[in-house]
Amino acid sequence: MIVVMGSRDKTYIEQVTAKVLEYGMQPHVIEGVERTVVAVVGDERGKEGLAEALESLPYVEKVLQVLKPYKLAAREVKKEDTIVEVGSAKIGGPHFCVIAGPCSVESREQILETAHLVKEAGAHMLRGGAFKPRTSPYSFQGMAKEGLELLREAGDRYGLPVVTEVMAPEQVSLVEEYADMLQVGARNMQNFALLRAVGRASKPVFLKRGMMCTINEFLMSAEYILAEGNTQVVLCERGIRTFETETRNTLDIQAVPVIQKYSHLPIVIDPSHASGHWDLVIPMARAAVAAGANGLMVEVHPHPERAVSDGPQSLKPSKFVRLMEEIRPLVAAMGKTL
Ligand code: PEP
Ligand code: MN
Repeated sequence: MIVVMGSRDKTYIEQVTAKVLEYGMQPHVIEGVERTVVAVVGDERGKEGLAEALESLPYVEKVLQVLKPYKLAAREVKKEDTIVEVGSAKIGGPHFCVIAGPCSVESREQILETAHLVKEAGAHMLRGGAFKPRTSPYSFQGMAKEGLELLREAGDRYGLPVVTEVMAPEQVSLVEEYADMLQVGARNMQNFALLRAVGRASKPVFLKRGMMCTINEFLMSAEYILAEGNTQVVLCERGIRTFETETRNTLDIQAVPVIQKYSHLPIVIDPSHASGHWDLVIPMARAAVAAGANGLMVEVHPHPERAVSDGPQSLKPSKFVRLMEEIRPLVAAMGKTL
């Protein structure tokens, strides 16, 4: 439930949070532009008297039930768009953010070259995997710590905040040391121990939609992170499994307006993993902007034919320049800034 407050005074808000704690529930104070609300989350069984107890406190305007199963992620609880700041980059609201880089960090030369090229083309953030979730245990698994160091070096050199995947709860503290944002990959979207661990981290989280998960399940996973206290969550639609085999996945473009209707969290599109083919990436990037997405995550490699992972879907730098040129007027038409 949410408690809508008629005062921003700490004393009255504390009376509400104390009552919530007394009932064994967790309060989350959300300061909006128009109002301050206290979101009350936890197991509601046996807490029947709580709403009445809260309603009787001073400056409590109303107590509303949240209809969606996710609470902190719901727009019912927070009307304003969440804007996630990752160093110099902003994701959400009017800010359109482009995250680009290779699927995997492969070498110092490769990541520095890519960082330079994507920065020149206008990207806001650099991506690159150091821990790779590969289908085969015999495929390249990533450069691990060395990859994190190289990604950090490249980001620092070219002034790009960096995002990279974390695959297990025990890796969070290491990845957090090097990355500006922690990526939870599609295969781990329902790894609840990992979601809780990144929810306790000090860095924003980039949560990718599981390839077999519904939008509701996606938002429930975001809720796990928010419930641990990390409010900085960016959602990413990266294609889902359907009967179609022509493309690697099917980009669920409708997820953009649906998520924006139900949640205040930013939603970014990854046209690379969605399509699996470099020549579909630019058209799907245009579609993402037109659908109202808050950004893009795009795989770019200086030599896609030599990439150790996801070469077929990676853009050559010249094509990434073209992508940026093509989306620029569309982003402006959508009333956003690039
Ligand atoms: C990636 O971003 O390289 C990746 C593995 O993506 P996903 O988790 O969406 O498959
Ligand atoms: Mn990839």
